[in-house]
Amino acid sequence: MNTQNIMYLPGVGPKKAETLRTEIQVSSWEDLLYYFPFKYVDRSRIFTIREIDGNMPYIQLKGKIEGFETIGAGRTRRIKAWFSDGTGRIELIWFQNLKAIPNLYKTGVEYILFGKPALFGNHINVAHPELDAAESFNQREAGLQAHYNTTEKMKNSFLHSKAIQKIIQHIFGQLNGKIPETLPISIRERARLIDLDTALHNIHFPQSPNLLRESQYRLKFEELFYIQLNILRVTRYRQHKNGGFIFHQVGNYFNDFYNKNLPFPLTNAQKKVIREIRQDTAKGLQMNRLLQGDVGSGKTLVALMSMLIALDNGYQAALMAPTEILAHQHYETLSGLLFGLNIELVLLTGSTRKKDRETLLPKLKEGNTQIIIGTHALLEPDVAFKNLGLVVIDEQHRFGVAQRARMWNKNATPPHILVMTATPIPRTLAMTLYGDLEVSVIDELPPGRKPVKTIHRYSGKRTNLYESVRKQLQEGRQVYIVYPLIEESEKADFKNLTDGFEHTREIFPEYTVGMVHGKMKPAEKDAEMKRFINGESRILVATTVIEVGVNVPNASVMIIEDAQRFGLAQLHQLRGRVGRGADQSFCILLTTYELSENTRRRMEIMTETNDGFVIAEEDLKLRGPGDIDGTQQSGVAFNLKIADIAKDGQILSFARELAYEILEEDPLLEKSQHQLFVQELKKRAQDRNSWFMIS
Ligand code: ADP
Ligand code: MG
Repeated sequence: MNTQNIMYLPGVGPKKAETLRTEIQVSSWEDLLYYFPFKYVDRSRIFTIREIDGNMPYIQLKGKIEGFETIGAGRTRRIKAWFSDGTGRIELIWFQNLKAIPNLYKTGVEYILFGKPALFGNHINVAHPELDAAESFNQREAGLQAHYNTTEKMKNSFLHSKAIQKIIQHIFGQLNGKIPETLPISIRERARLIDLDTALHNIHFPQSPNLLRESQYRLKFEELFYIQLNILRVTRYRQHKNGGFIFHQVGNYFNDFYNKNLPFPLTNAQKKVIREIRQDTAKGLQMNRLLQGDVGSGKTLVALMSMLIALDNGYQAALMAPTEILAHQHYETLSGLLFGLNIELVLLTGSTRKKDRETLLPKLKEGNTQIIIGTHALLEPDVAFKNLGLVVIDEQHRFGVAQRARMWNKNATPPHILVMTATPIPRTLAMTLYGDLEVSVIDELPPGRKPVKTIHRYSGKRTNLYESVRKQLQEGRQVYIVYPLIEESEKADFKNLTDGFEHTREIFPEYTVGMVHGKMKPAEKDAEMKRFINGESRILVATTVIEVGVNVPNASVMIIEDAQRFGLAQLHQLRGRVGRGADQSFCILLTTYELSENTRRRMEIMTETNDGFVIAEEDLKLRGPGDIDGTQQSGVAFNLKIADIAKDGQILSFARELAYEILEEDPLLEKSQHQLFVQELKKRAQDRNSWFMIS
């Protein structure tokens, strides 16, 4: 559209242009037209002074100013004026721009005032009101008025919301003709979208609430559509370019395991996912699949059986975990499950001794080792395979897209990738964040599991709590006590943790209490973890280092101290450490008495549901997508300009569906009617802040 520099617009100039560029990355006309308001204020209603009180949001009044008065001196200098409309008087007050104010406004002239009334002593005042002469008050502005986010620096350069709006108005004034379309008519008709020109005009200057809604819909759709079109296009292209190993058959490894070693019947959900993986790996295209399954849903077994299919087709398989403890645990679990099946399985982590490493690597390279389990250590370049067919990545949120890509490069043909996560990701977020992954879901827990009972208590009242815990300990169970520990308040947190440890030892002198935290040496931490896993210690006081994947079925109680400081996803992850055995398990959330609305809601959700997907959706709603785990790590900047992943799931699904159809018909976007897409994709790819960086 318009790449003209905003610098030359009336009232901008080089200095303001520079501020806009550095503060909000706006430099062209188009950038500014795509700088959308964050809210709208209804300016169609005019109040009377008699109606107002100190608790109202922004309102409008119509009246006259009765003289200015400068009061105070130095820093407290300010200008005061009375404003009356025949029903009463309020005070206007200015702290800045003091010289200009009395000349800017005239007494005796009727103004439309816009501002937020506040009760000050015994009268109402409005600080820094917006005042427009009533006679020139633009009818267009009388409806919904847009408000723009501005930064401190922008405000200091007089680039407040109103000023942004003025500049946008100038742009519209200078535009010749309509703003060209970014979506072809076929899509607009299917999705019932208004044209771009109308949408952009109305997003900034809504003519009616209806048109505003339609404009928002149109612009959200456009934004999400191009993200999806890009993700799907790149994925397709990569798949076709790279091809993928074909796993033709299910053979002896799989069948022997199934017939001789499978410890329990698979759940239907496990069967379904194995079938999906089986189909995916037989197509001749690289599989990139995300397996979501709540904690304890039995993902490990699915991983193992998928790896056995790889082996059956003459390939090697790797399983990568985010921590040493987890890698160890997987190694032990899988060694047990594969016992007697004559499969060569090794473990490689950062602490594997050099000597062991030196014997292990060549065997991997020659293909004598069939399955390797490890940590990030697997990514190192000297870890080479004969023919790596499948990589399973456990607990994805610790690994980013870049790391996945590094595993692809272990072969000329990239191995199939199965990513497993126990932090359910809302469907909409998965589509965007991992838009290039197919998604499988294990939505069923193995039979006989009792859902964890979750209880919220105030930390002041814990005497009864300790008695219940003692009962569990007497029955032979084990207990986790978790403390928050974050960098910002590390010292105080650490003291809390160690105090908690001492306190716990005093309360339960008859039991051994262990402690783990992130600052311990890995070997020490591992040893302490092992003592708990073996049941030598019965209570484990810990920070969130136990969050991921640790499996101690005998642990039936988790107490989370200062639970108000944890996010929903984290609480759910932590809770997943209990409820892994046949016994009824408990999770006790201890909080301070005073809680914010948001925290209260988090505690409510935790006590109401064990469903990770529900929790993930709620989490997204409460926190917004920017804070969701994994978004930072995976290097995806959340730079949506108008769509909201938490709220616009339906638009997203629809946009993805249409994008998918278009690529089915024209995978390389070669048809003439698709050239607009090509042009738009190119343009969007140049925007450094855009989503297009992720592929
Ligand atoms: P996660 O999905 O959290 O990784 P795991 O794979 O660790 O879960 O499985 C949790 C527990 O459930 C393990 O002890 C495992 O042996 C058990 N399990 C897995 N599948 C089944 C099944 N089909 N029936 C009964 N127990 C199962
Ligand atoms: Mg697991």
